[in-house]
Amino acid sequence: MTPTADSAVQLFERLTGSAPERVWSAPGRANLIGEHTDYNEGFVLPFAIEHRTYAAVGRRRDGIIRVTSTFDPNPVEVALVELPALFGGSPGDAVRVGDVPEWAAYPIGVAWAALTAGGGAAPSVPGVDIAISSDVPIGAGLSSSAAIEGATIGALDDLWALGLTPLEMAKIGRTAENHAVGAPTGIMDQVASIMGQTDAATFLDCRSLEARPVDLGFAREGLSVLVIDTQVTHSHSTGGYRERRESCERGAREMGVRSLRDLTVGDLERAKGILDDVTFRRVAHIVTENQRVLDTVDTLRSEGPRAIGGLLVASHVSMRDDFEISVPELDTAVTAALDSGAVGARMTGGGFGGAAIALVEHGRIDATKAAVAAAFETAGFREPHQFTVTPSHGVLRDA
Ligand code: ADP
Ligand code: MG
Repeated sequence: MTPTADSAVQLFERLTGSAPERVWSAPGRANLIGEHTDYNEGFVLPFAIEHRTYAAVGRRRDGIIRVTSTFDPNPVEVALVELPALFGGSPGDAVRVGDVPEWAAYPIGVAWAALTAGGGAAPSVPGVDIAISSDVPIGAGLSSSAAIEGATIGALDDLWALGLTPLEMAKIGRTAENHAVGAPTGIMDQVASIMGQTDAATFLDCRSLEARPVDLGFAREGLSVLVIDTQVTHSHSTGGYRERRESCERGAREMGVRSLRDLTVGDLERAKGILDDVTFRRVAHIVTENQRVLDTVDTLRSEGPRAIGGLLVASHVSMRDDFEISVPELDTAVTAALDSGAVGARMTGGGFGGAAIALVEHGRIDATKAAVAAAFETAGFREPHQFTVTPSHGVLRDA
């Protein structure tokens, strides 16, 4: 048991006066490549990281779900029968967000989504106590939200004997986030968190939802992933993200396809004649990024991870120049890491701040961190938070 798992157990014991029946955990994730492709029904290649969220759980006799977190020790409880009234009868219905604190809407929303999944009558299940502890940095683009959802759904699937498949679990996490929390996100984070495997990424086709592990070989090749969190705040709900989505929808409409997934690099010449300059560049990013994800998967298999650096850099350049979602801090992080000898580097996540990742030799991590810190200081930016992440396994039972 890790210290974080222990703290979930201790929190559970303080809450209930007894030991948990089970401990489940799920990881955060980083996206290796495939940015803003998810809502265009394209391809992504995220990997689960070793930072995890733990849920210590036990059944109750009274049909109540009670949750607590080291993040906010005030427990929140709701009767399971009240969940439809709280979050809407089924995932399509009107939502009443805001009756529980936002953080509690993640685990309680997962319980609601699990009970209403498939639109059938809720199975009769016992109440449950859930105590949560996490070492996934919150709001740093590493998806602490998918981690809390994954740990909760793993635990509930077990305690309630739901027999869910990994994809069903991921969908329940997404439903909770979309309808109980009210955050309009795709399914990449949940799939990455639930299906992750050691030293592998998860290739996800966001149209078919076909997902499969892709060997990364970072450990074998002595490579580490350095996360450079600029601590410039990002908010997916703000204009930039919505505007990019709208540009993509407009581009698809004007090109006569259901989504940008249906265009290939060969269509860009034609697109240039049809679309205005800004829409064309947004479309060009998505179309080339989809191809870069496919190329990354092929290159990993045929040549290994040292050969993907150019694809990572091309992804960054595309987001900087065509999709225009980078910020000076992210560009500085990428340039400094590359100048210091990184195999590749790119901003990751939604953009307008957040983090960059760099693929770096184990032995060069400290030198790269120092080079990035120095570049930030020279530019007059706040010192970034830098740490390595290791591609790790997905949801599992710890005890
Ligand atoms: P990200 O997923 O990038 O970390 P989000 O805004 O999507 O950022 O999700 C962060 C939110 O998830 C937090 O503000 C909180 O509401 C919830 N959350 C994540 N981890 C925990 C935790 N350990 N305990 C309670 N709430 C958590
Ligand atoms: Mg999130």
